[in-house]
Amino acid sequence: MTLMEIYDMLFNEYGEQHWWPGASPFEIMVGAILTQNTGWRNVEKAILNIKDYLTPRKLYSLPENRLRELIRPSGFFNVKTKRLRSFLKFLIDTYDGEIKIMKRQSLETLRENMLKVKGIGEETCDSILLYALNKPIFVVDAYTRRIFSRHKVFSIDATYKEIQGVFMSNLERDVSLYNEYHALIVRLGKERCKRKNLLCEGCPIKNFVFS
Ligand code: SF4
Repeated sequence: MTLMEIYDMLFNEYGEQHWWPGASPFEIMVGAILTQNTGWRNVEKAILNIKDYLTPRKLYSLPENRLRELIRPSGFFNVKTKRLRSFLKFLIDTYDGEIKIMKRQSLETLRENMLKVKGIGEETCDSILLYALNKPIFVVDAYTRRIFSRHKVFSIDATYKEIQGVFMSNLERDVSLYNEYHALIVRLGKERCKRKNLLCEGCPIKNFVFS
């Protein structure tokens, strides 16, 4: 079975996932940083607290202590405050705080620039590229690794780059497809392909053998 066939099976089972929840590209960027190691419900609470400051300059002008308090519901708020402020500084210094300027850059340059920002790893970077900036890059997360290594598409200790390469060389470069595929993988991982107690019986991709 191909990765595209797996996508179709997941889509038939779960339908459209409407990702990424977020009103604006900037809100999606903030959400991508705040969601590290926490559930989305906690992120929503933090975003609600900063809703009056959702531009790079307004958020950056908040005193660090105040920002820390506002994003407290997202957990790990000390480290996330620092990460968020580093990212905001980067947006302001490099793109004058303008997402539309950022969007004009190529995927490769954006990725290279963002990965230099402290606290922005590959998954966060690619989530921002795909979901906030509509750039065609496949996001790899722990669910992707778990599900597809269990089906022997790659080994459990494959690198992020290797995993991403498998998807991107087997699928068309398509923002909507990458958007939906990642969201479907997360749904499958949460509902069935758990770390323990996996629910293979009745799983839509139970018979998946990669070819
Ligand atoms: S739950 Fe089982 S069948 Fe479904 S993706 Fe995970 S390992 Fe595969």
